[in-house]
Amino acid sequence: MSAYKKMLVAIDLTEEAPQVLDKAKAVSEAHGAELMLVHVVEPVGYAYGGDIPMDLTELQDQLDKAAREQLGTYGDQYGVAKNNQVVTVGRPESEIHRLAKEQEVDLVIVGSHGRKGFQLLLGSTANGVLHGTECDVLAVRIH
Ligand code: AMP
Repeated sequence: MSAYKKMLVAIDLTEEAPQVLDKAKAVSEAHGAELMLVHVVEPVGYAYGGDIPMDLTELQDQLDKAAREQLGTYGDQYGVAKNNQVVTVGRPESEIHRLAKEQEVDLVIVGSHGRKGFQLLLGSTANGVLHGTECDVLAVRIH
């Protein structure tokens, strides 16, 4: 197997994120690969069905800013270059697919909760990322 060169790690900024980052860091070091982090902020309007008569720009900007700061903290902690710390707005799966292609990464790393039974039918971000990403995908089991 040839070594991976560029890895994209999807981070949800919850307290579970370090579990995914720890594994991603170890795998990237083993392969001598470049690490890129992404967090996708969901558009505020989605939560309200997009039809509330209010300008949500400021709220969206605040959420983006908070996400950038939090991702920056993780990035610094895990030695990821600033230009490899990406925050985008959209649907997580779609944005991760887009970025993986655009950045020509060869491994996408996501967390996975190992859903069982009925939960499986509801899907997950890891599932959505797997179906639609052209490169390899590593699902890190969250405990
Ligand atoms: P979930 O299936 O939503 O519980 O999320 C599992 C994993 O999907 C997380 O550990 C992350 O790797 C990824 N993920 C979920 N939401 C986001 C997000 N907004 N931005 C980036 N990655 C995410």
